Amino acid sequence: MHTLSPMTKQNTLLKKVVKWYKEFYTPLPWRVSPGNAHDPYKVWVSEVMLQQTTVAFVQDYYVRFMERFPTLQELALASREDVLYMWRGLGYYRRAHNLHMAAQEVMEQYGGELPRCARDLKALSGIGEYTAGAVMSIAWQKPAVALDTNVKRIMARVYGYDSENVRDVKQILEETQWSVPPGDFYQGLMDIGRLFCKKAQPDCDLCPLKEMCVFFQEGMDVPKVVIQNRKEKSACFFVLRKEESIFLVQGVPEGKMLQGMYILPSTEWLSNKQFQAVRSAWPVFLQEQTQHSFKHVFSHFCLNVYVAQSLEKFSGLYTKGVWCAKLDRSRLPLSSLAQKIIEVSDQMTVLCAKGQFQNGLSPLKRAPA
Ligand code: SF4
Repeated sequence: MHTLSPMTKQNTLLKKVVKWYKEFYTPLPWRVSPGNAHDPYKVWVSEVMLQQTTVAFVQDYYVRFMERFPTLQELALASREDVLYMWRGLGYYRRAHNLHMAAQEVMEQYGGELPRCARDLKALSGIGEYTAGAVMSIAWQKPAVALDTNVKRIMARVYGYDSENVRDVKQILEETQWSVPPGDFYQGLMDIGRLFCKKAQPDCDLCPLKEMCVFFQEGMDVPKVVIQNRKEKSACFFVLRKEESIFLVQGVPEGKMLQGMYILPSTEWLSNKQFQAVRSAWPVFLQEQTQHSFKHVFSHFCLNVYVAQSLEKFSGLYTKGVWCAKLDRSRLPLSSLAQKIIEVSDQMTVLCAKGQFQNGLSPLKRAPA
């Protein structure tokens, strides 16, 4: 392989990627055909939804969200609860809060049009370096750096850089002379990353970049993926029933993960050791009821979820909560964790009868974040 200067090589890469994208791009609900400008609102929503997850997972959520909020104005005017309802199941609910706040900021500050400047985009709630770059390049085909993990990985491999070192890749993108539409280049790289240049097992033989890729040409090895053990926490959730209704509370305002979503009352979320110490002080019938747990995975930790079922008595410990009938549950922004817990509890019998707690032994402390 000839040794080319980074900028000559970059020019070749731009052309190869865009040529391939024009022919083989994957049609997606937020995309238009190559070379055309996109609806910036659609690009923005799709990029926020795609954080931490895959195109396949997001598509149906995106379509439903857009049916409900087809324009930025409609999103800004919606209630927070409505936005969270349409976001349920996607997780990372902070993103939905930020999206909603930023839509209102755009209405107030820019008359409903997303600003065409990365600095102004980054001043909106929840929009960081990458999202601003993606919106600038994909929506308006403007030169920008949009460096997500896929783009980093592919470019590091093509140039033979250490995949941990993003500085060189960023510099190349900053210095790029854009001879092709930038949005098509980034979207082409995203498709190539998804189809061929996978993290653990790149499919180099089929990849359109293999002739210019140092990783492939020099037979470099994929670094071993280090699986990090997630931290663990434990909590017990209480399914309080009154006839056909279940008592639900909303995630506390200062919480980050489940803010505004409807969840079930619970103990504090403690380390496993602390939780077992607390649990050992509970009445025997409750210890017996909570012998088993299931795991729910969040981005940075894994929660061991214990479930107890009770009659209505203990709902009085919460001031902010609602009794929610079965039918109404489908209309609330119920977190997927709450849904799982209710499913588990549907298989349990109500063992925790009224009045069986001694004073001071109630495990209910507060609504979790
Ligand atoms: S040739 Fe292999 S390593 Fe290089 S970009 Fe293509 S899939 Fe990735």
